[in-house]
Amino acid sequence: MIPIREERVPGATTLHPLRRFSQLFTLLLLVAIPASGLFRIDPAAGGILMLDHLVWFSDIFLVLGFWIFIASLLIMMYSLVGAVFCGWMCPQNTVSEWANQLTEKLLGRRAKMMNIDGEKMQVAVRRRSWVNYLVLGVLLLLAAMVYALIPMFYFYSPEAIWSFVSFQYNAELAGSLHWIYLVCVAVMLINIAVIRHLMCKYMCIYRVWQHSFKTRDTLHISYDASRSDHCANCHYCVDACFLDIDPRQPEVFDSCVNCGECVVACDELHARSKKLQGPGLLRLAIGDERKGAYRGALGSFFGRAKAATMATIIGALMFVFGVISYEPAGFTVYRSDTWQGGRVLDYTINVAYKVNRPDDMTIRVQGLDKSLYTLEKQHIHFERAGRQNVALHLRSDLPKGLYRFTIIVESDDGWSNTFELRHYANG
Ligand code: SF4
Ligand code: SF4
Repeated sequence: MIPIREERVPGATTLHPLRRFSQLFTLLLLVAIPASGLFRIDPAAGGILMLDHLVWFSDIFLVLGFWIFIASLLIMMYSLVGAVFCGWMCPQNTVSEWANQLTEKLLGRRAKMMNIDGEKMQVAVRRRSWVNYLVLGVLLLLAAMVYALIPMFYFYSPEAIWSFVSFQYNAELAGSLHWIYLVCVAVMLINIAVIRHLMCKYMCIYRVWQHSFKTRDTLHISYDASRSDHCANCHYCVDACFLDIDPRQPEVFDSCVNCGECVVACDELHARSKKLQGPGLLRLAIGDERKGAYRGALGSFFGRAKAATMATIIGALMFVFGVISYEPAGFTVYRSDTWQGGRVLDYTINVAYKVNRPDDMTIRVQGLDKSLYTLEKQHIHFERAGRQNVALHLRSDLPKGLYRFTIIVESDDGWSNTFELRHYANG
């Protein structure tokens, strides 16, 4: 029988595909969230669309509750797993890694598009062909065009985006959108072709913000120093790190994003080597190793996350209250600009509808004789969320006195509200 050498490669077999899945899933999520109507900005209606319901800043419980809930969850995440978002989810890192791999494949392993040390771009001699440059350029441009489309999903419906990419007319689209898109593509192309991980290393404030919550208990790279003789003449893990970190000298506040690529590299090396015994020297670990024993991930986490947990609960309760007390419509009444001989005779009833589905509304005036006023229209129809004005005109020969009357707006969906108006007639 042929003896089979059992190879332990946990990092290599799980971490890398898991991370790639997470990166692709995040990209899909970034498009699916606005495309499904879960969260979209509606500049025309002046608010945020959540599941086809318009949320204004005045819906304070919904807005504040939502952000407190999300922010506190994120703070707990930073505290537990550090800057994992950067390594496993961030679209900037995803596209930078992809662009690096593509450049390596087409121009050679040492090809770098930009180096702030002033080092010139190095291209493998056998790959110095214009076809390689052309293929690289076209693929980077395609990626920039796709990436520049993603933000548009946060402002337009999928139907409008389809009209945009297929050059069809759509009234929803802004006239200058093609120019805005071209500028976005140009910025994205510079980012993907040249900037790449320089953004992560030197420009990203969000990464610094995440690191500010990091402690010795946070997820980090653990190095088995007792077998450091394996590292003689080896640089494999450092080469695998796109942030140029040496994972054998972990510092608490280093800029590691816990991507695990160095773990995979070392595991693969040990699996392939006949000389190096045992698993790789690196692994992802939670807990303070200086204390001799790990305190346990969950114990350590909840010990530090009490305030954030409280904030999460408060945020969730505020959000639920916001959902329960949500008003699908609202209206205000104000004096019109039309003054007649120094007298106010016209009012505007401004009705705002906040749901993206058709509805009909009825407007009534209560407490004022029908012969004393004219209402421009009693019924209004909304096809989607928006605003409509209805004029209320009072007769110019209204007998002198103070008039108190109520304007009532009712929707077919059961919503109604009232506005009490006081009008003084000079006679
Ligand atoms: S890849 Fe492993 S063996 Fe090589 S230097 Fe890094 S930690 Fe040491
Ligand atoms: S040190 Fe390892 S885990 Fe940290 S960023 Fe570099 S490759 Fe990723």
